[in-house]
Amino acid sequence: MATALSTRRTRLGQRQPQATLAPEDLLPVRIRRVAGAYLLTGDLGGHAFLEPEEYQRWLQGQLLAEEPAAAKLRAADLLADGNTRQRAQKYLERKGFLHFGPNLHIFVVTLRCNHSCQYCHASRARMDAFETDMSIETAERSVDFAFESTSPFLTIEFQGGEPLANWPVVEHIVEYALQKNQLAGKQLMFALVTNLTLMDDDKLAYLIDRKVQISTSLDGPEAIHDAVRVWRDGTSYATTVGWIRKINSRYREMGLDPMLYRVEALPTITRLTLPHAKALIDEYAALGCHAVFLRHLDPFGFAGATKARLGYTIADFLAFYQQALDYIVDLNRQGSDFVERTAAMLFTKILGGRDPNFLDLRSPCGAGIGQIAYNYDGRMFTCDEGRMIDRSGDDCFVIGDVAQGSSLQDYRAVVSGPVVRAMTTASTLQGQPGCADCAYMPWCGICPVHNYSEQGSIHGRMIESTWCQKYMGILDLLMTRLRTADEFEKALYHRWASPRALEHYVQER
Ligand code: SF4
Ligand code: SF4
Repeated sequence: MATALSTRRTRLGQRQPQATLAPEDLLPVRIRRVAGAYLLTGDLGGHAFLEPEEYQRWLQGQLLAEEPAAAKLRAADLLADGNTRQRAQKYLERKGFLHFGPNLHIFVVTLRCNHSCQYCHASRARMDAFETDMSIETAERSVDFAFESTSPFLTIEFQGGEPLANWPVVEHIVEYALQKNQLAGKQLMFALVTNLTLMDDDKLAYLIDRKVQISTSLDGPEAIHDAVRVWRDGTSYATTVGWIRKINSRYREMGLDPMLYRVEALPTITRLTLPHAKALIDEYAALGCHAVFLRHLDPFGFAGATKARLGYTIADFLAFYQQALDYIVDLNRQGSDFVERTAAMLFTKILGGRDPNFLDLRSPCGAGIGQIAYNYDGRMFTCDEGRMIDRSGDDCFVIGDVAQGSSLQDYRAVVSGPVVRAMTTASTLQGQPGCADCAYMPWCGICPVHNYSEQGSIHGRMIESTWCQKYMGILDLLMTRLRTADEFEKALYHRWASPRALEHYVQER
């Protein structure tokens, strides 16, 4: 073991060797004060809390190699003893997503939408704007391009606008991709992000038959949802909730586990939601949704007046998040099984020892190397957020055009082009001032599009970034809870850190 041997004088004046940890016995660590302790994290994603007294002794080189504090450091892979090869292997596994290519392929099949949600004017068009529909030819070229990805996993996600407004193209893409996959043999999945108000029984039967995962937006109890998700033809809430119930009961009839298989509903948190954390969670629980992803309002394409009406500070959001998490933990204590997704994703990294490949919170992020967004007109973007910037007249996140080709050569040119390379560099935390020495670096990620939108450059100044403030706040909260949690709460977080795979949605090869 590579510990330094120091010597201490006994009362009898004899010299007796004692193994203490020298500074060089520790792998590089990043340190943060959390809940009265010192949090140490390492590049392999491990962490340990040292009490102030232990921390002081470590600084002074007095921590004994065999005492409990050293055991904590060893268990967290923070000591330079052990097997270097194993450690390298662990690092490779944590960054395993870099071995593949883009796995998420977002198809914007139309910009038309029958809603005028207050937070998304920028990405929708009127229902008569048929020129924003993706054509069959562009759809096929986009699928051809997606199948050039070197990733063995492929998720084709339909977005809009409202994708059901261009239903024939959705169906065509599914059939065309299934046909292509007979040769390609990828692990193929489909997902549909819809407001559900254009759903009907035939479409649903098709989607269920083709194992398309369905996600929707539900912004809270009726009054909040309908105030934000404005639909001239009726109450969006009643229609959305009606379909959620119907689809969930269809899954149950098929014998699918309701803990895993249900409509994935997501709220966007606006100022209207902030005072209603419990009501929002109750709404989700009552609908049989066993999870919620508490999404902060994005700044992309957000008009000043809307921001003034719906926006809030990061401190407001964190207070809301804390209240919601407290309540979710309480629900679990009372016997419910309910998950908060941001916490679960971060605990998978912190406690589960692996990266769940959440494309917006990994280093580097998924822009162009983990995902591609295909616009209705054939242009490709680093991600859907990059496409939203284009809606405000700035096309700097375009990475190609399917009209120019979809061969392997074209694919290589796109995913190794200058925009993708710049995004990869800008989202690699080891190179970012502020992130490079942040204790949360092993679990965090940054978004160059967010930086660009908020600060005018893909290279953000994290000290002023609301993205950083949000994740630092959430991570402070989660690590504080982890340090102070009782056995029940710790076990809950460990359960969240081991999510089960959604095998049903994987297409047969
Ligand atoms: S740029 Fe932002 S939105 Fe796009 S993939 Fe990276 S983190 Fe996600
Ligand atoms: S974004 Fe903020 S919290 Fe995340 S690693 Fe960078 S400095 Fe730390």
